[in-house]
Amino acid sequence: MIDFRSDTVTMPTPAMRKAMANAEVGDDVYGDDPSVNHLEAMSAEMYGFDAALFTSSGTQANLLALMSHCERGDEYICGQQAHNYKFEGGGAAVLGSVQPQPLNNQADGSILLAEIKAAIKPDDIHFAKTRLLSLENTIGGKVLPQEYLAQAQTLAFDNKLKIHLDGARVANAAVAQNIEISEITQYFDSVSICLSKGLCAPVGSILLGDERLIGKARRWRKMLGGGMRQAGILAAAASLAITDQVERLAIDHDNARYLAEQLTNLDELSVDLSLVQTNMVYVQVATGLDTALLAAKLKANGILISPSATIRLVTHADISRQDIDTFITELKRHLTS
Ligand SMILES: *Cc1c(COP(=O)(O)O)cnc(C)c1O
Repeated sequence: MIDFRSDTVTMPTPAMRKAMANAEVGDDVYGDDPSVNHLEAMSAEMYGFDAALFTSSGTQANLLALMSHCERGDEYICGQQAHNYKFEGGGAAVLGSVQPQPLNNQADGSILLAEIKAAIKPDDIHFAKTRLLSLENTIGGKVLPQEYLAQAQTLAFDNKLKIHLDGARVANAAVAQNIEISEITQYFDSVSICLSKGLCAPVGSILLGDERLIGKARRWRKMLGGGMRQAGILAAAASLAITDQVERLAIDHDNARYLAEQLTNLDELSVDLSLVQTNMVYVQVATGLDTALLAAKLKANGILISPSATIRLVTHADISRQDIDTFITELKRHLTS
């Protein structure tokens, strides 16, 4: 199957499978797993933090961050399109008693600084306490400008807020700008990074922060059932995601651009090429086109897409240039028949 639905579908690399088979392990709840300890120490060091925590998923890493920055009755400011607002089941509210304050995302994915400033609640018994600003990079495949991150950090600092990055795809943001990941993470008090998307690990994310924050997060992780035992089997693959898989994201980005350019030749579809910045292509479909039927026809030919009025196509390690050509050929055939 050629699977354009997400980069989460990537398979672990042969090197990862080998590392998993040979991983040294221990009981990580006792802090005894050398492979987990290595992953946490290495990622903290590489991304400029005191400490790191290996988590079962990006959703868990974000939830732990929100619950560790905020207490019951506090709130976090985020985008309407933020994954940790819209796509994580309301976890911060449900499990943390933390209120989200969502604000509109601009076309480039940013939230206007003036709107953030205006949403910070004064110290008044009527209001939740605004504690945290949460940004996402990349967001919908788009890269937030470095200058914007610096300004957001200053705004947060001046207003005594902490600042979190949902950096599920921060490696894509770094590669797209030809900078180090640490140049992005430097602006944040905490960062979550998915290792199981474009970076190909089978499972897991990391949360980065200072010792105090990661200590709190470790406690919440245990309570939420995320204390894993011989997790080094997973951490061994996750370490290779960080060391071996970042550079090749440039190939995914080139492929996404190539895919987008091919798609603009088709009358029924349109793509805003300015929004194709990393590994995602959002395709607007002509009204009346039945995308569920199109998806079913493609599936019969070995191609998976998620049907929607706006179709998101994601390039990743398991999609080649040739796969894209196959997809375009099939698409042309089905659109004209
Ligand atoms: C995928 C994703 C997450 C959550 O990761 P899971 O491992 O699927 O729970 C969080 N934030 C963003 C921006 C994501 O794309």
